[in-house]
Amino acid sequence: MKKSLSIVSVLTMVLLMLSGCGHTHKFADATCIEPKTCMVCGETEGKPLGHDWQEADCVNPKICKVCGETEGESLGHDWREADCVNPKTCKVCGQTEGTSKGHLVDIGRCSECGELVNEGVAKDISNDITTGASFITSATDTITSVSSNAISAQYLYNEFTQAQNDLNVAKSYFQSAKNLCNAYPNGTENIYEKLTDVIDKIPSNVYGSSYDDLINYANDCADMLRSCQNLYDTMSSFASSMA
Ligand SMILES: [Zn+2]
Ligand SMILES: [Zn+2]
Ligand SMILES: [Zn+2]
Ligand SMILES: [Zn+2]
Repeated sequence: MKKSLSIVSVLTMVLLMLSGCGHTHKFADATCIEPKTCMVCGETEGKPLGHDWQEADCVNPKICKVCGETEGESLGHDWREADCVNPKTCKVCGQTEGTSKGHLVDIGRCSECGELVNEGVAKDISNDITTGASFITSATDTITSVSSNAISAQYLYNEFTQAQNDLNVAKSYFQSAKNLCNAYPNGTENIYEKLTDVIDKIPSNVYGSSYDDLINYANDCADMLRSCQNLYDTMSSFASSMA
Protein backbone atom coordinates (compact mmCIF):
# COMPACT_ATOMS: atom_id res chain seq x y z
CA MET A 1 0.00 0.00 0.00
CA LYS A 2 2.78 2.33 0.93
CA LYS A 3 4.61 1.52 -2.27
CA SER A 4 1.57 2.07 -4.53
CA LEU A 5 0.94 5.39 -2.81
CA SER A 6 4.41 6.61 -3.54
CA ILE A 7 4.02 5.57 -7.19
CA VAL A 8 0.82 7.58 -7.36
CA SER A 9 2.61 10.55 -5.82
CA VAL A 10 5.41 10.36 -8.37
CA LEU A 11 2.93 9.98 -11.21
CA THR A 12 0.95 12.92 -9.91
CA MET A 13 4.05 15.05 -9.73
CA VAL A 14 5.08 14.09 -13.23
CA LEU A 15 1.58 14.83 -14.50
CA LEU A 16 1.60 18.12 -12.70
CA MET A 17 4.95 19.03 -14.23
CA LEU A 18 3.84 17.99 -17.69
CA SER A 19 0.65 19.96 -17.51
CA GLY A 20 2.51 22.95 -16.13
CA CYS A 21 -0.16 23.65 -13.65
CA GLY A 22 2.24 23.58 -10.71
CA HIS A 23 3.22 27.28 -10.94
CA THR A 24 2.10 30.58 -12.29
CA HIS A 25 4.30 31.39 -15.29
CA LYS A 26 6.70 34.22 -14.78
CA PHE A 27 7.09 35.58 -18.29
CA ALA A 28 9.99 37.63 -19.42
CA ASP A 29 8.99 40.08 -22.12
CA ALA A 30 9.60 39.09 -25.69
CA THR A 31 12.77 40.46 -27.25
CA CYS A 32 13.91 41.00 -30.81
CA ILE A 33 14.89 37.37 -31.16
CA GLU A 34 13.11 35.53 -28.27
CA PRO A 35 9.36 35.16 -27.74
CA LYS A 36 7.78 35.91 -24.37
CA THR A 37 9.30 33.14 -22.21
CA CYS A 38 8.54 31.76 -18.74
CA MET A 39 11.57 32.18 -16.59
CA VAL A 40 10.64 29.07 -14.58
CA CYS A 41 9.67 26.47 -17.13
CA GLY A 42 10.85 28.03 -20.35
CA GLU A 43 7.40 27.90 -21.91
CA THR A 44 6.97 30.49 -24.63
CA GLU A 45 4.08 32.53 -25.85
CA GLY A 46 3.78 34.35 -29.18
CA LYS A 47 6.68 35.22 -31.42
CA PRO A 48 9.89 37.23 -31.12
CA LEU A 49 9.33 40.94 -31.80
CA GLY A 50 11.91 41.04 -34.58
CA HIS A 51 14.51 43.78 -34.91
CA ASP A 52 13.49 47.36 -35.40
CA TRP A 53 16.09 48.34 -37.98
CA GLN A 54 17.50 51.76 -38.64
CA GLU A 55 19.00 51.82 -42.12
CA ALA A 56 22.74 52.13 -42.56
CA ASP A 57 24.10 55.67 -43.02
CA CYS A 58 27.45 57.23 -43.77
CA VAL A 59 29.07 56.16 -40.54
CA ASN A 60 26.81 53.47 -39.02
CA PRO A 61 25.85 50.02 -40.32
CA LYS A 62 22.20 48.96 -40.32
CA ILE A 63 21.45 48.80 -36.60
CA CYS A 64 18.54 47.59 -34.42
CA LYS A 65 17.18 50.55 -32.47
CA VAL A 66 16.17 48.17 -29.65
CA CYS A 67 19.02 45.73 -29.11
CA GLY A 68 21.84 47.37 -31.01
CA GLU A 69 22.51 44.41 -33.26
CA THR A 70 24.17 45.47 -36.51
CA GLU A 71 24.07 44.09 -40.00
CA GLY A 72 26.48 44.84 -42.84
CA GLU A 73 28.66 47.93 -42.91
CA SER A 74 28.28 51.69 -42.97
CA LEU A 75 27.80 53.21 -46.43
CA GLY A 76 30.74 55.58 -46.11
CA HIS A 77 30.57 59.27 -47.04
CA ASP A 78 29.83 60.39 -50.57
CA TRP A 79 32.33 63.24 -50.83
CA ARG A 80 32.14 66.33 -52.97
CA GLU A 81 35.67 67.71 -53.34
CA ALA A 82 36.60 71.07 -51.79
CA ASP A 83 36.12 74.12 -54.00
CA CYS A 84 36.82 77.84 -53.69
CA VAL A 85 34.28 78.43 -50.94
CA ASN A 86 33.34 74.99 -49.53
CA PRO A 87 35.45 72.40 -47.77
CA LYS A 88 35.28 68.76 -48.85
CA THR A 89 31.65 67.94 -47.96
CA CYS A 90 29.58 64.73 -47.78
CA LYS A 91 26.66 65.06 -50.20
CA VAL A 92 24.54 62.88 -47.91
CA CYS A 93 25.15 63.95 -44.31
CA GLY A 94 26.89 67.28 -44.82
CA GLN A 95 29.98 66.38 -42.83
CA THR A 96 33.01 68.45 -43.83
CA GLU A 97 36.71 67.77 -43.89
CA GLY A 98 39.46 70.38 -44.05
CA THR A 99 38.85 73.84 -45.41
CA SER A 100 37.84 75.46 -48.69
CA LYS A 101 40.58 76.08 -51.23
CA GLY A 102 39.85 79.80 -51.41
CA HIS A 103 39.56 81.80 -54.59
CA LEU A 104 42.50 82.09 -56.95
CA VAL A 105 42.40 85.88 -56.64
CA ASP A 106 42.00 88.33 -53.74
CA ILE A 107 40.05 90.59 -56.02
CA GLY A 108 38.48 90.40 -59.46
CA ARG A 109 36.95 87.42 -61.22
CA CYS A 110 38.12 84.05 -59.91
CA SER A 111 39.33 81.99 -62.86
CA GLU A 112 38.47 78.81 -60.96
CA CYS A 113 34.81 79.44 -60.11
CA GLY A 114 34.01 82.63 -62.03
CA GLU A 115 32.83 84.43 -58.91
CA LEU A 116 33.49 88.14 -58.46
CA VAL A 117 35.73 88.48 -55.43
CA ASN A 118 35.80 91.68 -53.36
CA GLU A 119 33.85 93.58 -55.99
CA GLY A 120 33.36 96.51 -53.60
CA VAL A 121 37.11 96.96 -53.14
CA ALA A 122 37.60 96.78 -56.90
CA LYS A 123 35.05 99.59 -57.26
CA ASP A 124 36.86 101.64 -54.61
CA ILE A 125 40.14 101.24 -56.52
CA SER A 126 38.42 102.17 -59.75
CA ASN A 127 36.78 105.23 -58.19
CA ASP A 128 40.07 106.41 -56.67
CA ILE A 129 41.78 106.12 -60.04
CA THR A 130 38.92 107.84 -61.86
CA THR A 131 38.89 110.72 -59.38
CA GLY A 132 42.68 110.99 -59.48
CA ALA A 133 42.50 111.01 -63.26
CA SER A 134 40.11 113.98 -63.27
CA PHE A 135 42.63 116.02 -61.26
CA ILE A 136 45.45 114.89 -63.58
CA THR A 137 43.37 116.07 -66.54
CA SER A 138 42.67 119.39 -64.89
CA ALA A 139 46.38 119.92 -64.14
CA THR A 140 47.66 118.90 -67.56
CA ASP A 141 44.98 120.94 -69.35
CA THR A 142 46.17 123.98 -67.43
CA ILE A 143 49.83 123.28 -68.19
CA THR A 144 49.15 122.69 -71.89
CA SER A 145 46.95 125.73 -72.41
CA VAL A 146 49.18 128.21 -70.59
CA SER A 147 52.37 126.82 -72.17
CA SER A 148 51.07 127.74 -75.63
CA ASN A 149 50.31 131.23 -74.37
CA ALA A 150 53.32 132.01 -72.21
CA ILE A 151 53.02 135.66 -71.24
CA SER A 152 55.88 135.47 -68.76
CA ALA A 153 57.83 132.97 -66.71
CA GLN A 154 56.18 134.29 -63.58
CA TYR A 155 52.73 133.78 -65.13
CA LEU A 156 53.64 130.21 -66.07
CA TYR A 157 55.07 129.58 -62.64
CA ASN A 158 51.86 130.78 -60.97
CA GLU A 159 49.69 128.68 -63.28
CA PHE A 160 51.91 125.60 -62.87
CA THR A 161 51.71 126.03 -59.11
CA GLN A 162 47.91 125.88 -59.40
CA ALA A 163 48.25 122.77 -61.54
CA GLN A 164 50.62 121.28 -58.98
CA ASN A 165 47.86 121.51 -56.37
CA ASP A 166 45.69 119.32 -58.59
CA LEU A 167 48.57 116.89 -59.06
CA ASN A 168 48.94 116.63 -55.28
CA VAL A 169 45.26 115.74 -54.95
CA ALA A 170 45.56 113.21 -57.79
CA LYS A 171 48.57 111.67 -56.09
CA SER A 172 46.64 111.15 -52.83
CA TYR A 173 43.85 109.35 -54.71
CA PHE A 174 46.35 107.17 -56.55
CA GLN A 175 48.11 106.43 -53.26
CA SER A 176 44.80 105.38 -51.73
CA ALA A 177 44.19 103.03 -54.69
CA LYS A 178 47.71 101.66 -54.30
CA ASN A 179 47.11 100.93 -50.61
CA LEU A 180 44.01 98.93 -51.53
CA CYS A 181 45.98 96.99 -54.16
CA ASN A 182 48.58 96.30 -51.51
CA ALA A 183 45.90 94.90 -49.21
CA TYR A 184 44.47 92.70 -52.01
CA PRO A 185 47.60 91.82 -53.95
CA ASN A 186 46.53 88.68 -55.79
CA GLY A 187 44.80 90.06 -58.88
CA THR A 188 45.88 93.70 -58.67
CA GLU A 189 49.56 93.24 -59.61
CA ASN A 190 49.26 95.12 -62.91
CA ILE A 191 47.36 98.04 -61.45
CA TYR A 192 49.77 98.24 -58.52
CA GLU A 193 52.71 98.39 -60.89
CA LYS A 194 51.17 101.15 -63.02
CA LEU A 195 50.11 103.13 -59.94
CA THR A 196 53.64 102.95 -58.57
CA ASP A 197 54.97 104.24 -61.88
CA VAL A 198 52.50 107.14 -61.99
CA ILE A 199 53.02 108.13 -58.36
CA ASP A 200 56.80 108.18 -58.93
CA LYS A 201 56.35 110.43 -61.95
CA ILE A 202 54.04 113.02 -60.43
CA PRO A 203 56.31 115.99 -59.66
CA SER A 204 56.19 117.02 -56.02
CA ASN A 205 56.57 120.71 -56.81
CA VAL A 206 57.18 123.18 -59.63
CA TYR A 207 60.97 123.10 -59.99
CA GLY A 208 61.49 126.84 -60.21
CA SER A 209 60.47 129.97 -62.08
CA SER A 210 63.19 129.98 -64.74
CA TYR A 211 62.11 128.98 -68.25
CA ASP A 212 64.39 125.92 -68.03
CA ASP A 213 62.75 124.80 -64.81
CA LEU A 214 59.31 125.39 -66.26
CA ILE A 215 60.09 123.50 -69.48
CA ASN A 216 61.54 120.58 -67.52
CA TYR A 217 58.46 120.56 -65.33
CA ALA A 218 56.11 120.59 -68.32
CA ASN A 219 58.10 117.79 -69.97
CA ASP A 220 57.99 115.68 -66.82
CA CYS A 221 54.24 116.24 -66.64
CA ALA A 222 53.91 115.03 -70.23
CA ASP A 223 55.93 111.94 -69.32
CA MET A 224 53.72 111.42 -66.28
CA LEU A 225 50.64 111.67 -68.49
CA ARG A 226 51.89 108.79 -70.66
CA SER A 227 52.25 106.65 -67.51
CA CYS A 228 48.74 107.70 -66.50
CA GLN A 229 47.42 106.48 -69.83
CA ASN A 230 48.98 103.06 -69.18
CA LEU A 231 47.35 103.04 -65.77
CA TYR A 232 43.93 103.95 -67.21
CA ASP A 233 44.22 101.22 -69.87
CA THR A 234 45.14 98.64 -67.22
CA MET A 235 42.29 99.76 -64.97
CA SER A 236 39.88 99.62 -67.87
CA SER A 237 40.80 96.03 -68.80
CA PHE A 238 40.61 95.05 -65.11
CA ALA A 239 37.13 96.59 -64.92
CA SER A 240 35.98 94.78 -68.06
CA SER A 241 37.26 91.49 -66.66
CA MET A 242 34.85 92.04 -63.78
CA ALA A 243 31.87 92.92 -65.94
ZN1 LIG B 1 6.31 28.46 -16.51
ZN1 LIG C 1 16.98 44.08 -32.17
ZN1 LIG D 1 28.23 61.43 -45.02
ZN1 LIG E 1 36.84 80.88 -56.89
